[in-house]
Amino acid sequence: MTEPNGFTAAQLFAASQSAITYNDIILMPGTIDFGPAEVDLTTRLTRDITLRRPLVSSPMDTVTEHRMAIALALAGGIGIIHYNCTVEEQVAQVKKVRRFENGFILDPLVLSPDHTIADVDRIKATHGFSGIPITEDGTLKGKLAGIVTNRDIDFETDRTRKLREVMTTELVTARKGITLNEANEILRHSKKGKLPLVDEKGRLVALTSRRDLRKNRDFPDATKDAGKQLMVGAAISTKNEDRDRLDALVEAGVSVVVIDAAQGDSVYQHEMIRYIKKKHPALQVIGGNVVTPRQAENLIKAGADGLRIGMGPGSICTTQEVMAVGRGQGTAVYYTAQAARKHGVPVIADGGISVIGHIVKALALGAGAVMCGSLFAGTDESPGEYVYRDGVRLKVYRGMASLEAMKAGGGKRYFTESKDIKVAQGVSGYVQDRGTMFDLVAYLTQGLRLALQDLGVRSVAALHKSLESGDLRMELRSASAQREGGVHDLYAYTQPDSLSNSRNG
Ligand code: GDP
Ligand code: GDP
Ligand code: 5GP
Repeated sequence: MTEPNGFTAAQLFAASQSAITYNDIILMPGTIDFGPAEVDLTTRLTRDITLRRPLVSSPMDTVTEHRMAIALALAGGIGIIHYNCTVEEQVAQVKKVRRFENGFILDPLVLSPDHTIADVDRIKATHGFSGIPITEDGTLKGKLAGIVTNRDIDFETDRTRKLREVMTTELVTARKGITLNEANEILRHSKKGKLPLVDEKGRLVALTSRRDLRKNRDFPDATKDAGKQLMVGAAISTKNEDRDRLDALVEAGVSVVVIDAAQGDSVYQHEMIRYIKKKHPALQVIGGNVVTPRQAENLIKAGADGLRIGMGPGSICTTQEVMAVGRGQGTAVYYTAQAARKHGVPVIADGGISVIGHIVKALALGAGAVMCGSLFAGTDESPGEYVYRDGVRLKVYRGMASLEAMKAGGGKRYFTESKDIKVAQGVSGYVQDRGTMFDLVAYLTQGLRLALQDLGVRSVAALHKSLESGDLRMELRSASAQREGGVHDLYAYTQPDSLSNSRNG
């Protein structure tokens, strides 16, 4: 059976007897009477948190630490800090995001006067910069004693010389608390490359660099709270011992916690959600992962403000094969979003997003946002260094239930740590270099705007409304329709990276 204008989502899902994935469906075009710049991507992450971009980075140790969370929040999404680390380490990450001030480096690398030029060389080699503030005791909060930059050491042949002999000690500094504009002015007058900020006792608190000020951008879409600080999320497990982790994260100013479990509908999670809502009523809680309305209802009943949807669609994930449990992601998103909507709770489509079209379909099926692992793992801001393989620039990306991540302390969400026998539900691999998050989000934003324009809807909210009213029409794609929709019948062609902003593409 076909329909001249395509089916409503309700018709299509009711008629289908098998799971539907993003690739199985295609959306019917609408009428365009506006430009892409008018499309508003504002969406809800939880009951109380609104994002200007429907993008969330996954709590995985190869995806989200503070640099990712800062970049994504500046760009309008939000990052969820992973918990494959100690409480102290996770709290430090959250604090870095919350303390972030655009243009100021709040934790610059410092050395002491007794370090040598070779130490600066080492920093230059691993981090790429050589403007190093020198504090008396070599600690970040120490009293500022001088500064060493390239120009102090580039002609020096004896690399064992102590920094106290080469550093500049007559410094132009500024008091902490100055604005970026004031810092700009000072750098312009001093003609220096670096401006250290100090407190009333002369202790270093931050560093600004000329390069950053020059390229400093405004981030009008940034995800900020009422206190004008960037928002950040953090993952915790359902274990009782993570109640301490929770308290420490709240203390550090976390904006939302994500309860990380592969199968979220457990009494442990219900209890954890109830505990959080009682102890920290203002804190937003995202429960998950779930794939059926019944699971979703249970977590909402316990008090969840948002839900994370997906069991097995992840690129590094083997759950559906190993555990025989899970669900096609299109079906999971559609039915859970329907159920959660009745309670005013948004859902996040987690896993399996590899092209812009997948994001469009997730939103069209009712998701408020998508959570990405592999898509973001190859950016400059993800943890880890780039490596080369066959001349291609890559980063390591691994499932949190891969043997590698479990050995590093992961696997908490799969209840497998501390057991002798580990059953992996994920793999470890590589993803391609995708440049900076700022370029990637700009690219995704433009793609989403064009797609919503094709659908004839001006906003994510309007898209959700058209899903509900049945104005949004869609169709299943036969195997040959999928082939027809891809590149075909060419003798040869230039392989487009699915994300063409890539440095290699
Ligand atoms: P340098 O003159 O070699 O130190 O480098 P630039 O000032 O040209 O660039 C340094 C870049 O690295 C800027 O974008 C900084 O924001 C960034 N950066 C990040 N962390 C640090 C740090 O701890 N110290 C310094 N000097 N730069 C950092
Ligand atoms: P570069 O361009 O990356 O080498 O860095 P700078 O322009 O910051 O440094 C150039 C020279 O100025 C070096 O000898 C630095 O030690 C020195 N310098 C950097 N900051 C200051 C400062 O605040 N006051 C003074 N007097 N010298 C500085
Ligand atoms: P991706 O964006 O790479 O397709 O999927 C990322 C999502 O996969 C994560 O947000 C998380 O829900 C899920 N995930 C992460 N690690 C593992 C793993 O080792 N096994 C399984 N089954 N899922 C994982």
